[in-house]
Amino acid sequence: MNIALIAHDQKKDDIIRFSIAYKHILQKHKLYATGTTGKLISEATGLNIHRFQSGPLGGDQQIGAMIAKNEMDIVIFFRDPLTAQPHEPDVSALMRLCDVYQIPLATNIAASEIFLRGLDRGDFEWREIIKEKQQKEGNT
Ligand code: PGA
Repeated sequence: MNIALIAHDQKKDDIIRFSIAYKHILQKHKLYATGTTGKLISEATGLNIHRFQSGPLGGDQQIGAMIAKNEMDIVIFFRDPLTAQPHEPDVSALMRLCDVYQIPLATNIAASEIFLRGLDRGDFEWREIIKEKQQKEGNT
């Protein structure tokens, strides 16, 4: 599965701790992240992560583009609800696209833990079915 990891600045320590705790699950998947989040997680865990631009410089939109192509399966987004973000429109657009394409989106650590445990149990296998179906439709 393709998993996106994003954390606003006040939540970066949390996503690092989260990634360390769930490294055994994350390492089985293809990981993507916004620039700084990806750098910090890979430094702390050694996980291989494809890094996009930093969020304020377009990283959220790059992840959004993958969602629009149905290439992202899960979005883990540790949002900071207490600090104004210069790229708030991008943040809203990313969450909107998750809803447009029915992409599972966790916006805090509590939901993210449930997501990763579910992922490891196979709860997101339906994503593979949708992608296969889409590929077949695209090929006909
Ligand atoms: P960053 O971007 O990982 O580059 O800090 C995250 C964000 O603020 O959207």
